[in-house]
Amino acid sequence: MRIGIDLGGTSVKVALCGEDGSLLRKQSCPTRTGDPDGLRADMKRLALALCAEHGIEPDRVTQIGLGVPGSLDKANCRLIFGTNLGMNEVGFAHAFEPEFSCPVGLDNDANCAALGETIAGAAQNAKDVVMITLGTGVGGGIVIDGKLYSGFNDIAGEIGHMVIHQGGEPCNCGRLGCLEAYASAMHFVNFAERALEAGRESSMMPYKGKLNAKMICDAVDEGDELAIELFEEYCRNLACGLSNVINIFQPECIVMGGGLAGYGEKLLAPLRRLTEHDTFRCEERNTKLVVAQLGNDAGLIGAAML
Ligand SMILES: [Zn+2]
Repeated sequence: MRIGIDLGGTSVKVALCGEDGSLLRKQSCPTRTGDPDGLRADMKRLALALCAEHGIEPDRVTQIGLGVPGSLDKANCRLIFGTNLGMNEVGFAHAFEPEFSCPVGLDNDANCAALGETIAGAAQNAKDVVMITLGTGVGGGIVIDGKLYSGFNDIAGEIGHMVIHQGGEPCNCGRLGCLEAYASAMHFVNFAERALEAGRESSMMPYKGKLNAKMICDAVDEGDELAIELFEEYCRNLACGLSNVINIFQPECIVMGGGLAGYGEKLLAPLRRLTEHDTFRCEERNTKLVVAQLGNDAGLIGAAML
């Protein structure tokens, strides 16, 4: 048995998983931000409760893994900067003692999601996988030969911060023209708001100032000219990033996660067409674009399987 923990800014989710990555049961509680001792106590309490519910002793657990948003020191199982958690320099290596005696590991939450989808989700049975999450930002995780690739300093996989337009839109990271500044849900919405602000005619006008990505996708479905134009531009930018990823890694699968991936085939079909044109291809074996299957459980399962 393994335990996976998804440590988020609003909630702490804890799951008991089988050795194959199957999710057996889970529990959650609100995150006590800014309170490392309270947070560690909550995680242990939930882990113990899951063991009790499942009727197993804590010493049957062989591994505990945490998916954490922020910068990490993996070797020492420490969170260095956790902006959304309101805490820095927090160690987890001994957080589950004395009840649990197994090793504790941690990784970035986006990396955990990539591993979870590879082991038990959309990219099951694939060995070389890249996951891209289209949320408020653009997250990424790289799995090579079944293992997460973290680079020699543990911070590899920042696919959202590859520049696709030199000197382009400002990104949260401080650079200009990153993929994230074009492909995140937040930026997608910003482009639409900007067009409405500039007086473009659209059925979205009544929602000006309070648009979200789903409203733009709905307007695309209804044939709104501006929404279609924005969506096509969105796809071209995202496809540029995906083509770069394919040309570098030639993964078996790229798993698309996050809210915008919920648009499914309507998003994937144009992306396939555009990336096909811009990538080096084989006769038969080419990268498949697929939608994530595990939703929020991907990070939990991936953490358990670190
Ligand atoms: Zn950036």
